[in-house]
This record gives sequence, C-alpha cells and structure tokens, in this order.
Amino acid sequence: MAEHEHVRVAVIGSGFGGLGAAVRLRREGITDFVVLERAGGVGGTWRDNSYPGCACDVPSHLYSFSFAPNPDWPRSFSGQEHIRAYLERVTDTFGLRPHLRFNAEVKRMTWDAERLRWDIETTGGNWSADVVVSATGPLSEPKLPDVPGLDTFPGKVFHSARWDHDYDLRGKRVAVIGTGASAIQIVPSVQKQVEKLTLFQRTPAWVLPRMDRPIGAAERAVHRALPFTTKLRRGLLWGIRELQVQAFTKHPGELGFVEQLAKRNMARAVKDPALRAKLTPDYRIGCKRILLSSTYYPALAQPNVDVVASGLTEVRGSTLVAADGSEAEVDAIVFSTGFHVTDMPIAERVVGPEGKTLADVWSGGMQALRGASAAGFPNWMTIIGPNTGLGNSSMILMIESQLNYMADYLRQLDVLGGRVALDARPSAVRAWNHRVQERMKRTVWNTGGCTSWYLDASGRNTTIWPGTTAEFRRATRRVDLAEYAVLRAADAQPGAGAENAEVAA
Ligand SMILES: Cc1cc2nc3c(=O)[nH]c(=O)nc-3n(C[C@H](O)[C@H](O)[C@H](O)COP(=O)(O)OP(=O)(O)OC[C@H]3O[C@@H](n4cnc5c(N)ncnc54)[C@H](O)[C@@H]3O)c2cc1C
Repeated sequence: MAEHEHVRVAVIGSGFGGLGAAVRLRREGITDFVVLERAGGVGGTWRDNSYPGCACDVPSHLYSFSFAPNPDWPRSFSGQEHIRAYLERVTDTFGLRPHLRFNAEVKRMTWDAERLRWDIETTGGNWSADVVVSATGPLSEPKLPDVPGLDTFPGKVFHSARWDHDYDLRGKRVAVIGTGASAIQIVPSVQKQVEKLTLFQRTPAWVLPRMDRPIGAAERAVHRALPFTTKLRRGLLWGIRELQVQAFTKHPGELGFVEQLAKRNMARAVKDPALRAKLTPDYRIGCKRILLSSTYYPALAQPNVDVVASGLTEVRGSTLVAADGSEAEVDAIVFSTGFHVTDMPIAERVVGPEGKTLADVWSGGMQALRGASAAGFPNWMTIIGPNTGLGNSSMILMIESQLNYMADYLRQLDVLGGRVALDARPSAVRAWNHRVQERMKRTVWNTGGCTSWYLDASGRNTTIWPGTTAEFRRATRRVDLAEYAVLRAADAQPGAGAENAEVAA
C-alpha cells in the first residue's frame, strides 16, 4: 500500500456508533486511533437526515449516551437539529476532534495476514490498523427503487436522507413514495406548503399518537441541579421498553390492544371510511416498525392530499403510475424508501485473507458473533452489526453494549500480548446465530404477516435482536476467547514457519 499512517484502531463512521467508540477508546487509555468519516462533519444519521420534521421516535433522555446525559433536552422527543448539536458537543467534550479524519470515505479494507493488520484505502489517504471498528450505520445508504422511466421525469427527485434544501416545495405537486418512519414525518411537515401531495403507499403503517411535549425550564433546572433525576428518567424510559419486549418476542397475540389504540388515533383524524380502509394495515402491529405521529393522519385527511394505496411502478414523463393503474402528475418526487440494511454496504469493501469480501461471505445473509465479529475477518468488528437492531427502544443502548465488547476485545489482545489477532470461530458464529434465529421464530417480526426491511431477500431476520437490551448487555460484557482462534504473526513466533500460526484458544 502507498504511503500511510499506522494506528492501533481505525474507527469508521462518526455517528453515535463511531463517536461512542472514540470516547470509549480514550476512556480505555487508547489514544492511537483515528475516526474515518466520509462526510465533512460528525453526526451520521442526524447529519444526513435533515428533511422537514425529522425527529427521533425514542425519548431524548433514552436516545443519548449514558455517559453524556443532557439535562437540557428541549423536548421529550428531540428533533434532528438538537440531536446533531448534542453529538457535536459530545465530540468537543470528550476531546475527539484530533482523531477525526473527514472526507475520508473507506473504499477498501484488506487483511494483511502476514502483518496481522488491516490496510485501509480511503478517499482522504491510506491507513493501516491493528483493529477496525466499523460503525458505518445500519441506515446510512439510501435505497432508491429501480422505477422504469424515472430518467424521463423532468422534475426534481431526491431521497429523504439527501433533502435538497435549495428546492422550494411551495406551490408544487409533490409525490412522496413510501410510508415508513421518514415519510410519516415529511408528509405533515410539507402538506401545508405544497399545492398537491400524492402519497404512494405500498403497505400502510401502524401509527400511534406521539406524546411529544416541550420540556419546560423548571424541569430542566431540576435535571441540572439534581443529576440523578436525569438518570431516573432514563431508567424509567428504559424499564418501560424492557417490559414491552416480551410481547414482541414471545406473545405477539398480546399486541392486539395496541392496534386498537392505533385505530383510534386514525379514526380521530380520518372521517372518510374509504380513506380509513386504505390506511388500515392487515398485519399485526409491531411486525413493521411502529410509527409515532399525531399529525400524519390529520395531514392525510386534508383536501390537497391523495393517498394512492399502491406502489409506484412506472414514470412516464411527469406522470407517476401506480401498480393499480392510478396516475398522478407531479413536479417533484421524494423517495422515502429507506436504506440498504440487510445488504450492509460496507461489507463489499472488506476483503478477508483469501481475497473474499465480507459481502461474498454474507451472500446467503449477514451473520456475526454477538453482532460484532465475522468468521474469517480477524480483528474487524462492527457496531450495530447483524441482529442488534431494536423494534421498540433506543439503539444507543445496543451501541453501548457493543462498545463494552469492543473494550474487552482490546483488553484481551493486550493480555495475549505481541502481534496478535482474534478470528471468530465459524462454529461459534453458527451457534450464536442458531440461538438468535431459534428465538426469532416466535417474534412478531417473523410471524406478524408482513414483509419489512428487517428481513433479507430470503426472508431471514438478520437485523433485529430478539430479546431485551439487558440480555444483549450481558451477552456482550466479555469476549469469550473460546469463541475465537488466536492468530499470531509468523515473525513473532520463532520457528512457526512462513504461515501465520493459529494458537488454540
Ligand atoms: C431518519 C432516521 C430516524 C431514526 N430514528 C431512530 C430512533 O428514533 N431511535 C433509534 O433508536 N434509532 C433511530 N434511527 C436509527 C439510527 O440510525 C441509529 O439510532 C443511530 O443513529 C446509528 O448510529 P451509527 O453511528 O451506527 O450510524 P450512522 O449515524 O448512520 O453513522 C454512520 C456514519 O458512517 C459514515 N460512513 C458510512 N460509510 C462510510 C465509509 N465507507 N467510509 C467512511 N465513513 C462512512 C456515514 O457517513 C455516517 O456518518 C433512525 C434512523 C434514521 C435514518
């Protein structure tokens, strides 16, 4: 590899995962690391998603780092700009700036089996690292459907995660494609400005009321003066969600009453029975992500909104054609069609010892030991890896568990000493995934009668953790060396020969 700098750890991405990893590394006394980020600033999801109405659907006091509580959250559910500002503050408070390398998109990482290190090529220079912590995000690569004729569309087209703020939607005929978490925030935020809004809905969503409210000055002052109250609040928010998990994972039948709440949320705003019928899902609530909004249904009931209960199949000039044959003339298309999730894009750029990419190895579906390590890719781990997603709580809880695992991984390497790498044993990866998939069988995500972005092309759920966050915390507290082969560099082992020696763990 050309001129490069060597570091002990290369973290990729500067969202919650990458920044959290950086804080944890420093707390473990490790300063020899870089954070490689393709964009020009930190924030990940909360930098890229700046669409109107973008906000979190987990309360702020839970959707933040436990080690960086924020007594000053202005609302119970924060908007994008507040979460982004929070991540900027975390970056400064924990002294992360010197480690950040912006405009450094990782193009390729290749395992050097002789030297036991990763060679990393980026658009901003090259690095090598003993360990790679990949925090490129579960929802960071926008997915655009391949719609025939889209190239003939004369108007404006963009994805919700790449909002074009220079384009004025006022007075325009706008199509929103999709009814996921982003779409239900965008629709009520733009409905009043546009001349006409056409929503293309392949599958309706279950939408519960959003109990959002400003957090007043007095409440914030209490949190500032008595820090344990912030912790208490977080603990309560966490506990409630932990108690809900069983309904999702073991007793989906119990979710019926939640459907009633969602139906009431709709009935309050949508009086037209035909529209209500279009908007009522036919699958169990929770099978797809439950959405929170108190403004979505009222917006859909407005006269300038049309719901096409059918997917977009073709574009003919400025005419959008749905699967059911209905047509709409529009000036702009906003794709709220989600992200590449089960085909984790970074996997194509990770090249293992035999020249195979992680994407090749995962062609039948992603799987990793404890959501972190893939067999055959030593000293490479991912934050929010396979089966670490949540259906009902804060991803920050899972990220922090994975950071515990990362910290112990590095400690184990230290204890082993010398130039050494850990490679997840295929049997351990298989056993872990077998357990995960067995538990998945009863969950609402697999039995609820929907297809969702949680499932891969073969219908396997490779994204969601089928348990409580506490269970995952326990499972990732320590690295079990029996689950790894320990690799040592040949030159570190006199007489070990030209090949790297595998030392039984
Ligand atoms: C609109 C939206 C709303 C959400 N709401 C919630 C919510 O309410 N609750 C919840 O728990 N979760 C929510 N999520 C999920 C959210 O993605 C996670 O909670 C969390 O922010 C993920 O953090 P991350 O660091 O893993 O990934 P990201 O925040 O996506 O960060 C990944 C970073 O990696 C960088 N990157 C990617 N590829 C490369 C590369 N090749 N080279 C260099 N850098 C690279 C990206 O530029 C990005 O900065 C939401 C996601 C979206 C999109």
